Amino acid sequence: MGLTKQSSSRGAIDQGIAIERRSPNQRVIALAGNPNVGKSTVFNGLTGMKQHTGNWPGKTVTNAQGICRSAHYEYILVDIPGTYSLMAHSPEEEVARDFLCFGAPDAVVVVCDATCLERNLNLVLQTIELCDRVVVCLNLMDEAKRKGIHVDADRLSEQLGVPVVATVAHKKESLNALLSALDDMFRSPPPTPVAVRYPVAIESAVARMQPLLKDLPNSRWIALRLLERDEALTRTLSTVYGDTLPAFETVLPAEAVKDSIVTTLTETAERIAKTVVSHSKPQYNAADRRIDRLLTGRWLGYPLMLLLLALVFWLTITGANYPSTLLANGLFWLEDRLSDLFLMLNAPDWLRGALVHGAYRVLAWVVSVMLPPMAIFFPLFTLLEDVGYLPRVAYNLDHPFRRCRACGKQALTMCMGFGCNAAGVVGCRIIDSPRERLLAILTNNFVPCNGRFPTLIALLTIFFVGSGNSLLSAVLLTAVILLGVLLTFGVTRFLSGTILKGVPSSFTLELPPYRRPQIGRVIVRSLLDRTLFVLGRAAAVAAPAGLLLWILANITVGDASLLAHTAAFLDPFAQLMGLDGAILIAFILGFPANEIVIPIVLMVYLAQGTLTEPGSLTEMRAIFLDNGWTWTTAVSTMLFSLLHWPCSTTLLTIHKETGSLKWTAVAFLLPTLIGILVCILFNALV
Ligand code: GDP
Repeated sequence: MGLTKQSSSRGAIDQGIAIERRSPNQRVIALAGNPNVGKSTVFNGLTGMKQHTGNWPGKTVTNAQGICRSAHYEYILVDIPGTYSLMAHSPEEEVARDFLCFGAPDAVVVVCDATCLERNLNLVLQTIELCDRVVVCLNLMDEAKRKGIHVDADRLSEQLGVPVVATVAHKKESLNALLSALDDMFRSPPPTPVAVRYPVAIESAVARMQPLLKDLPNSRWIALRLLERDEALTRTLSTVYGDTLPAFETVLPAEAVKDSIVTTLTETAERIAKTVVSHSKPQYNAADRRIDRLLTGRWLGYPLMLLLLALVFWLTITGANYPSTLLANGLFWLEDRLSDLFLMLNAPDWLRGALVHGAYRVLAWVVSVMLPPMAIFFPLFTLLEDVGYLPRVAYNLDHPFRRCRACGKQALTMCMGFGCNAAGVVGCRIIDSPRERLLAILTNNFVPCNGRFPTLIALLTIFFVGSGNSLLSAVLLTAVILLGVLLTFGVTRFLSGTILKGVPSSFTLELPPYRRPQIGRVIVRSLLDRTLFVLGRAAAVAAPAGLLLWILANITVGDASLLAHTAAFLDPFAQLMGLDGAILIAFILGFPANEIVIPIVLMVYLAQGTLTEPGSLTEMRAIFLDNGWTWTTAVSTMLFSLLHWPCSTTLLTIHKETGSLKWTAVAFLLPTLIGILVCILFNALV
């Protein structure tokens, strides 16, 4: 019984793992590498695509594809998830390994970090065991030079038996050299990579098994994994090959085989690194370690984290005011022109009202309130990510999250939630254990996103600071956010003690080296990838929401609008929570986009058929006071803004990520019930 290469690749294509070539000179190249070695930068540089690059492990969890042309070939580049090994301990490793093993790539480029080659060699050694056409891309050569690390690329190539190209991923000539190396490789016979030799017992078991896996190109590698009793691989093998997979009997204990394989790989990597790497500066990362002692130290770690958070908020608040007003003036000027146009065309009043004063006005409001803070917050956040600070935040918060029986990486997804909860939920893919991922998804909404900041900032400024003191606003906002963080911990602990019981999985938190940020790229990337993306999504829901709002506000039953009737109906319950009917209906109608909550409140108070233009904070304060607001109403509104259902985009994302209506319902109910309870308790106590 044997498997043929043809049947295996057909099976892989049917399984959606492999990629079909559309012309004879197309070649499929897998791009592999440890996390954070510049793989996305190489991919983007070669394909002209804009994959998000960042500084923490595990961003690419699916295989992205792009095309690039060289002098001789058209390459389909497949960016597989960043992994430390192919032993499949995590979903990333499984995706990466399945593609290398069953995706039948024509060659693999393994991107390595020249500043820590030894650790990267582990993956290289495993990859050359799987495929013979491998090119090592020795990246970050500029960083290595700066740190006084010299890597002899020619010697490394001799030791591994495959081509090695030294690169600086941002430089075009580096990428051209990489393409030439690939071209050369395809125009000559395949290289003969060195084989890692394992202890005799393993080698002889492999020799016995290999004939049974006869025509498979990577039979040795598969035999090794079968000896390890790798369950995930066996599962994939049977989906790809059906029941043609032979059964094996072995007396070697799986754990001992695994240990022995890992030890041999590590020792081989160490031996090769010793012969090719030399240091001209001793203690090359002493400076990094000094900074780490400060930023992750027991005494300063947390205060510095809070200080940085407050600084980011302060910059966002102070910076956003002026452009927000400018943008609002511009967009509302345009609204008048649009209205004139409808009048000129003799359009019916209801049509002008619904489209201009309904859909357009809400859209304009959302854009003018949301765009400036996002355009400041996201670049600042990306900057912290680029410098390498966010993994330190994860390191600092690892301990408390573990005490809640969750994963330290949840700290990163929580930080992403500050920008946008939907982005935070997608980010949870970096967490390997399904239980811990679910914990992170269900609690992401407890930190306020950019859409909720405007409400919090406006109420803080109106009721507690008095306009003009943005520093105090930032401090108070940090306190509100801290409450969100504390609740994240509390709810995570509650869930992991009840419906999501389990022990935290172990993983090694990677502290990548600090890097000089590339300011230009950061700005462009965060504006294009994050700001406009989130804004686009919010705008897409804001316009229809505006339309619905206009309809509710303009259809009258008796002497009041549907909106006013609903607000009156909700009022008794809202009063229990320290709110009123207008505030509660605003939260409900703000389901598509949180940033329209305050405008709707004003609209109900003023009994207007359209959204009120953003007036000054003083005007807003007067309207609130006229409608019976006190400081407790403001606190209750802020509490409910922090603690209520996720917006529609986030809920949809949660449903997509969990594939379960039940967990989506939990994600909806959990913060909502807590919010109602907290508000009722607060009002009973004051
Ligand atoms: P990935 O996780 O492997 O995809 O790594 P990325 O492409 O996201 O790169 C991580 C960080 O390293 C980013 O800030 C890149 O701008 C930076 N980077 C990538 N390649 C190089 C390089 O050759 N030299 C320097 N100095 N920085 C690089």
